[in-house]
Amino acid sequence: MTNEEIKGETAKYLMATYARVPLAFVKGRGVTLTDADGREYLDFLAGLAVCCLGHSHPALVSAIQQQAGELLHTSNLYLASNQTKLARYLADISFGDKSFFCNSGAEANEGAIKLARRYQEKIMGKPEKKFVLSFTNSFHGRTLATLAATGQTKYHDGFSPLPQGFVQVPFNDIAAVEEAIGTNPAIGAIIAEPIQAEGGVIPASKEFLPALREIADRESIVLIFDEVQTGMGRTGKFFAYEHWNTKPDIMSLAKGLGGGVPIGAVVASDKFAAAFEPGSHASTFGGNHLSSAAAIAVIKTFFNDQVIERAAATGKYIFEKIQALKSPRIKEIRGKGLLIGIVLDAPAGPYVTRMRENGIIIGSAGENVLRITPPLIVSRPQCDQMLDTLDKILAS
Ligand code: PLP
Repeated sequence: MTNEEIKGETAKYLMATYARVPLAFVKGRGVTLTDADGREYLDFLAGLAVCCLGHSHPALVSAIQQQAGELLHTSNLYLASNQTKLARYLADISFGDKSFFCNSGAEANEGAIKLARRYQEKIMGKPEKKFVLSFTNSFHGRTLATLAATGQTKYHDGFSPLPQGFVQVPFNDIAAVEEAIGTNPAIGAIIAEPIQAEGGVIPASKEFLPALREIADRESIVLIFDEVQTGMGRTGKFFAYEHWNTKPDIMSLAKGLGGGVPIGAVVASDKFAAAFEPGSHASTFGGNHLSSAAAIAVIKTFFNDQVIERAAATGKYIFEKIQALKSPRIKEIRGKGLLIGIVLDAPAGPYVTRMRENGIIIGSAGENVLRITPPLIVSRPQCDQMLDTLDKILAS
């Protein structure tokens, strides 16, 4: 089928939740994607910061193939050695001790919020401390509770009533956090993205995450970092909180965790993980043999090929090159590692389209921000090609 034919069938059979670009990718190798008409592109979006090892990485393909030939799924009624191994890896590489696995970022945030609420009630004996504080411009997912936590009203449209117990204050505003907590003793959890990704690639200030940590400790509030987009090497460290030297109590992961195979995780230190008992929370598919095998392959490849170190260096390279472009269109460059936002003086959408017409796939975030999130394995010549195209397009 051609792109055009797939477009027609899509309009007929799929709900119109996405304003899709009329291109169907049919093959991917490394950073290269091929569409149904045979045209090739360089992928600087990586499936919205998911395909951290690029497309068809041999280690990931072989882990998936091998696991598919052994056993796909047996449910969480039974032990699952891959899942246990993955949880052990996450404990080794993060602040956390224990994990719960699910299938997406929204589900990971739901799990994190449930864990925080249950911790307040069952461990702390404070059932009244169930409110969740989040931030303006944040994005935490599309389920009802994560929508309620998401600080962008455009995503709430048509879905009221949203679950109760969520309040928002401006991001990077420590005084606003103090005030909200001072006036609302029911706040029992704070959820924050270290870098607000969907909201426009806006990093927390140097002081903000440490201040949240201090406030959370002082007020016995659970601190959740949503690392769905910033985790798994995206910012040049395994987890973005490392840049701030500040650890959360609970962290949500998804996107890059499975390198393209759907898997999410709630990671927590023992004290908080203890709030979940048999029956408190569950997921049929969460961390099944296949998705856990994929995530294990991702983490092993990160270590074997120094993927994160290379991503950090590549991110620095791209930042410096964009700075050197000196285009009057560019107002600011934000982000860390390979989560890069280029703030323009005009809506980003038309530039995303023109980049694509010139063979480069990028995204946007917020109104005026180009979002660059390539696979972490992207090479310098591929970056140069993207940057040359960007330079040309911004100048025209
Ligand atoms: N949290 C953050 C920070 C995200 O960027 C996203 C998705 O973009 C989500 C949560 C939701 O993840 P999912 O679409 O896998 O449910």
